[in-house]
Amino acid sequence: MATGNTAKLLHVDLSTRQTRTEVVPETTVRKYLGGGALASYILLRDMPAGVDPLGPDNVLVFTTSVINGLSLSGTNRYTAAAKSPLTGGYGESEAGGWWGPELRAAGWDAVVIRGKSAAPVYLFIKDDTVEFRDAAPYWGRLSGEVQDGIEAELGDKRVRVLQCGLAGERGVRFAALVNQLKHFHGRSGMGAVMGSKNLKAVVVRGTKPPVASDKAEAKGQLVWFKDHYERATDRFHQVGSSGGVLALEASGILPTRNFRDGSFEGAKAISGQTMRDTILVNRGTCYACAVACKREVEVKELGVTAKYGGPEYETLAATGSLCGIDDLKMLALANQLYAQYVLDSISTGAVMAFAMECYEHGIITKEMTGGIELQWGNADAVIQMIHLIGKREGIGRLLGEGVKRAAAQLGKGADRFALHVKGQEVPMHDPRGKKGLSLAYALSPTGADHMEAPHDPLYAGFHPQGHPLGALGLIEPLDPLTLDSKKVRAFFETQKVWSAYNSVGMCDFVGAPLNALGLEPMMDYINAVTGWNMSLYELMKVGERNNTLARVFNNRQHAGAGLQQPRGLHARGRHPAPAPARGHRQRRAEGLEDRPRRVLRGPPHLLRDGGVGPEHGPADGGQARRAGCGGSCGRTEVGR
Ligand code: SF4
Repeated sequence: MATGNTAKLLHVDLSTRQTRTEVVPETTVRKYLGGGALASYILLRDMPAGVDPLGPDNVLVFTTSVINGLSLSGTNRYTAAAKSPLTGGYGESEAGGWWGPELRAAGWDAVVIRGKSAAPVYLFIKDDTVEFRDAAPYWGRLSGEVQDGIEAELGDKRVRVLQCGLAGERGVRFAALVNQLKHFHGRSGMGAVMGSKNLKAVVVRGTKPPVASDKAEAKGQLVWFKDHYERATDRFHQVGSSGGVLALEASGILPTRNFRDGSFEGAKAISGQTMRDTILVNRGTCYACAVACKREVEVKELGVTAKYGGPEYETLAATGSLCGIDDLKMLALANQLYAQYVLDSISTGAVMAFAMECYEHGIITKEMTGGIELQWGNADAVIQMIHLIGKREGIGRLLGEGVKRAAAQLGKGADRFALHVKGQEVPMHDPRGKKGLSLAYALSPTGADHMEAPHDPLYAGFHPQGHPLGALGLIEPLDPLTLDSKKVRAFFETQKVWSAYNSVGMCDFVGAPLNALGLEPMMDYINAVTGWNMSLYELMKVGERNNTLARVFNNRQHAGAGLQQPRGLHARGRHPAPAPARGHRQRRAEGLEDRPRRVLRGPPHLLRDGGVGPEHGPADGGQARRAGCGGSCGRTEVGR
């Protein structure tokens, strides 16, 4: 990091193997802070319109923030951004872990990568020095071998390895990035971008951690958090995001069998609570975070080790209920394979559920799968499919394109089963039971994204007596099953909070309203670290700027018709949900003109025609239980 709150950017041209340093002035840094806002600023500035997402002109940016690498819990997150090979528009994905703080300790705030190496290469950034190193020994290897090999080659177990995985090398459009084997940039296909550049990894080692401008004041905020956070009662520490399985099952919106159902008979078997009581061996954490929400599991008979962490909610739902699988140990194995191939678990699970429904309807045949019987609940088939997708072999070549492109290639009405927004597969949250989330899905510049704003159960908790978002005027409780002007306003305000979190690198499992760290203490911490006097208004403008720039990026790339229009999920969403969200559907008037069809049980013809059908079962408009999000509203690194 540069001094005086300027930012120091490392520019790398892989084609020429040259580097240069850019110092961003303090006023610019204060307008963007880092993360998604700084990344979209750089991409807009540096990337020409109309580039091929998998070509050398795509620019891959990694941005930290002004508070990354210091000691407050939850401030370790950083951003990967580029033009997405999945959507053709703005691609952004955050991860926690250790890589961002290490980059800051090496003296850099961001890395901007362009061009394409003639041969496989990895970057080694050690403080001021940058080396281009031969990655041939690691090309084609699984992530664990790469991590171990690079640590051994460099003779340092404290290097932090961010890598693209085999899936990224082979151009799977939803390939992820991972640091230290467990911390993922899951969404938007950033792994495919990195692989297309013949760049295997970016390895960092720093020896000069950043320090606060006002150390005493910054320490005061650490004490504030210690006084206000109670680990013993924190659901994120106890069951992590996997607590979402039973919470969403209770609300009748656990995505099941490709969103056909909202209740899964095997929910308890694959829940976070069952995981805690059976295969959980440890709770992992990110740099300097007291919450320690990460799962680490072991299943000796399947070769599953804690080295690759454990499944988050999104993984349990996308590979479990969405594919009809109720075997937790096999889901742990699937999770390990996602980590080894470095795949986005949401998109991979979604594309497999899509394939299962196509198989059910004879659109994908046993001949096409190479003999794999893709029935709902067939865990062995899912494991085989992950290998094929990760290697982009057999039918994995088709499915590695994502549901939108796969459906177009298959024809025969396969698009009825392809649930996506702007080409990105739908996360494991059904907007028919969380109406505000439908706005997030429809309006997100990155396509279907559950990380745009808090989910509706949190809107239900607004109140005038000291609610952490009361400072934004959000004091009135809102029903999760309504989508009216009050909900739209709440979404608009809270989307700025979430975008500000993405810009400053704050984990929303630590920040309010999901956890203890309020907006004002966070502001005080930013000011203590930087020496500024930022206001909450100024911070919200950063969040707004982040969103605006991402949308401008999409406009400028004009990379595909519809990128800027609000997009819904699929016709399936126009069909009503079962109890307790029974009868709820989404309307065209909600701006969701093509979203998932029958989320929950309905006559087969409604699946086939994708039309708007009659109410299924009693149209009682029952209220979804305000069960709290149970972590389901939150983030999983695999999931973003
Ligand atoms: S709450 Fe969890 S994901 Fe967030 S920073 Fe802490 S350990 Fe990482």
